[in-house]
Amino acid sequence: MTRLMHRSLVSTPPVAAAARGIEIFDAQGRSYIDASGGAAVSCLGHGHPAVLEAMRAQMETIAYAHTGFFTTDIAEKLAEMLVEDAPKGLEHVYLVSGGSEAVEAALKMARQYFVEIGQPQRRHIIARRQSYHGNTLGALATGGNEWRREQFRPLLVETHHIDPCFAYRFQQEGESDEDYAARAANALEEKLLELGPETVLAFVAETVVGATAGAVPPVADYFRRIREICDRYGVLLILDEVMCGMGRTGTLHACEQEGIAPDLMTIAKGLGGGYQPIGAVLVSSKIYDAMKAGSGFFQHGHTYMGHPMAAAAAVAVQETIRRENLLSNVKAMGSLLEERLKARFGNHHHVGDIRGRGLFQAIELVEDRASKRPFNPSRKVNAAIKKEAMARGLMVYPMGGTIDGVTGDHVLLAPPFIVTQEDIDRIVDRLGEAVDAAVG
Ligand code: PMP
Repeated sequence: MTRLMHRSLVSTPPVAAAARGIEIFDAQGRSYIDASGGAAVSCLGHGHPAVLEAMRAQMETIAYAHTGFFTTDIAEKLAEMLVEDAPKGLEHVYLVSGGSEAVEAALKMARQYFVEIGQPQRRHIIARRQSYHGNTLGALATGGNEWRREQFRPLLVETHHIDPCFAYRFQQEGESDEDYAARAANALEEKLLELGPETVLAFVAETVVGATAGAVPPVADYFRRIREICDRYGVLLILDEVMCGMGRTGTLHACEQEGIAPDLMTIAKGLGGGYQPIGAVLVSSKIYDAMKAGSGFFQHGHTYMGHPMAAAAAVAVQETIRRENLLSNVKAMGSLLEERLKARFGNHHHVGDIRGRGLFQAIELVEDRASKRPFNPSRKVNAAIKKEAMARGLMVYPMGGTIDGVTGDHVLLAPPFIVTQEDIDRIVDRLGEAVDAAVG
């Protein structure tokens, strides 16, 4: 009997009793390799001494000061660090406590920006199908995961969705990458023209799709075209890098690989590496300056924003990643992981696609490879793989059971940036056994 309301109300997960490096230990002392970093969170692994020490030192200085009264050196330091390495034009930082809060803040900032510059008619948000932007109402309305949205639809603000750039599912037979990138990006322009471009606030997209479709990278040139279309119609581009950002794909920000910069960017998970709950919006000077010159005030806020303990953890995590040069390990181990997944699952009759960037890789499970037909959601293939993996001491992030009839079940791997070749081999071995046990 548990008093705690878990995700499942009919089963209680094992008790996580301790954690070190890439392993979590349950109360019986069983070990699990954290091959998903929780939900792509634990980028440094668990129990890193530099982070623990930084948090202890911060606690002894000041643990909390409300941002309505004070700023703190540690929050200022984090903002400084983030701007130093941010994509061009993103020069301000709004600190919150997680991914959904970051998305909500970005949406409201986009709206307030247009009110401030005298374009209050801009009210529509365009996002993409097969996307996830969080579970609070604005973020849920923005996301395109029908299964998550369905029963809450009456509570959601109206948003508009176009198909994502998702080669495995939407690129046509014989269509070149270039043509597909153009077709996928043109869907945005068509939607803008349908709604009236002067009524649209922002286009929101995950640079590399995470929780709904499983590590789907964009086709080359797609985001350059998206940037161009947004600029042509004066629409803000919001990139949601809550999951794919902060080094996960091998560069600090995933959009660096696309050669573009957004107007607003949300980050979270890897920012604090799970040591503290923290998220942020990186804000372009265009938006900041307009709001500063206008009302001089962003009409938003949360009790725990800019929390010193969270900022201290994030500064320590980010300094450690730089000091230990972990992004080069993400690149090397990411290539190795991709190679090993292809070797193990390339000919598997229920694996339709293997995809990803850096240490953000996924396999998509299908009933039939030739037609790409997903398993019937009632088979709960993703849950079966998770169960078999946990039984083998492996944490993976499985998703699926979507009701859009497009995406199949998939399994996401997002191990900590400190993984070694030996770890990668153990992860792929265990995953292979779990997939075979679940789907044969
Ligand atoms: N955006 C993206 C792209 C995400 O992957 C997530 C979390 N999976 C969120 C937003 C929401 O973040 P949180 O769960 O911290 O609210």
